[in-house]
Amino acid sequence: MEKLRTIASNYGTPVLVMDLEVVRQNYLNLVENIKNCKVYYAVKANSHVEILKLLRDLGSYFDVASRGEIEKLLSLGVEPYRMSFGNTIKKTEDIKFAYENGIRMFAVDAEMEIEKIAAVAPGSNIYVRISTNGMEDDADWPLTRKFGTSVSHAIELVKYAKENGLNPIGLSFHVGSQNYNPENWRTAIREAAIVFEEAKEFGVKMTMINTGGGMPVKYVRSIPAVKDIAKVINEAVEEYLGDNITVIVEPGRSMVGNAGIMITRVILRSQKSEEKWLYLDAGVFHGLTETIQNIRYRITVDGKEDEELETFVLAGPTCDSVDVMYYDAQLPKSTTIDDLVYFHATGAYTSEYATNFNGIPSPKIVFENGVISEVEQYAESVKVEKE
Ligand SMILES: *Cc1c(COP(=O)(O)O)cnc(C)c1O
Repeated sequence: MEKLRTIASNYGTPVLVMDLEVVRQNYLNLVENIKNCKVYYAVKANSHVEILKLLRDLGSYFDVASRGEIEKLLSLGVEPYRMSFGNTIKKTEDIKFAYENGIRMFAVDAEMEIEKIAAVAPGSNIYVRISTNGMEDDADWPLTRKFGTSVSHAIELVKYAKENGLNPIGLSFHVGSQNYNPENWRTAIREAAIVFEEAKEFGVKMTMINTGGGMPVKYVRSIPAVKDIAKVINEAVEEYLGDNITVIVEPGRSMVGNAGIMITRVILRSQKSEEKWLYLDAGVFHGLTETIQNIRYRITVDGKEDEELETFVLAGPTCDSVDVMYYDAQLPKSTTIDDLVYFHATGAYTSEYATNFNGIPSPKIVFENGVISEVEQYAESVKVEKE
C-alpha cells in the first residue's frame, strides 16, 4: 500500500484515488455480456471529467439529470444523441435547453411531465418509468417510491404521450441501487411486457427497455457477478419482449464504485462511557454520505491489518451529530490518531455528495492507473467485518 501512503502524504487527506483501468473494464464487461445493449452511464455517480472523457472515447452513452450535466458533456464534445434526460423531475427550462441542444430522449412518470415535454420539446422520444415490485430488502438504496408508476398508469401515460404528439419508445425501471438479487430484473421486465402488449392495442409499437442501474459493488456482502445479472436480463428480454428490442443499461455505482478508494486519517480518538469513538477527517458531509442509509463500506487501517477487531463509533469531523458513519464499525483495536483509514470501493456517490460544510474542503480526487489491483490483493489478506 506504499502507493496509497505516498498519495496521502503528497496530496493530504481526505483523498479519493480513482483507477480508470477499472472503469474501462467495467464498461467492457457490460457491453460484452448484455445482448443488444447500449450503456448510458449515470453521470450523477461520479461526474469527474476524466471519467466522462474515458467513457466518451469508449463509445458510451450517458444518462443525465440536469442542465449542468448536459453542459458538462457538451463541453467535452459528447453528441446530444448520446444523452438521455432520465430524471423524471425536470425543470421546463431545462427540457427546453436540452431540446435546443439536440437531445430527444426523455423519461416520464406523470401526465404533467408529458405536457411539459410536449410544449417545449415537441415530437421527442419518451419512455415511461415504472416502479418495480422487487423484494424490499434486496437493495441497499431503494429508488422505488419517489420514482416510477404502476403498470396500469404507465399504459395511460403511453397513450397520453402519443395524444400529445410525442413518440413513446419504451419503458424504464430501476430495481434500487446496490441490489443483490438478479431476479428483480426479471420481475420488472415481465411487468414492463404488459405495457408493451397493451400499447400495441392502441397502435404504439415500443422497442426499448431501459433496465436502469442497480448492479451492485462488492462492499462487505457478497454480490452476484455482472454476468449473472446480464444472463437474467437477456433471458427475460427474450422471453417477455422478444427480438428487436434495444436494451439500455444505466450503470452508475457499478461503473465507478470499485474503481475508487478513499483515504482518510484519524484526527481524534476518545472513550465516552462504554463507547470508543474515532473521528476521521472525512465523514457524512465529505463524501461518506451513503453510510447514513444502508451502504456498508469495507474499511481497513494501514499497518494494522493483522490486529484483532473491536467495535468503534466512527464519525466525521464536522459540528453536526448526523456526521456519524457507523455506530458499530469493526476496526483494529489500536486504531488511533494519524492512522490512515481506507474506505474501499468508494468511487461512486462520494465526491458527488461532498460539501464544504463547516469550511472543511471536500476530498481531493487523484487518478492512478493500476492502483486498485494492488489494493485488491492487499484487501484479500486483511481481517475485516464479516458479511
Ligand atoms: C441513479 C440512477 C442510475 C444509476 O443507478 P446505480 O444503482 O448507481 O447504478 C440509473 N438510472 C437512473 C435513472 C438513475 O437515477
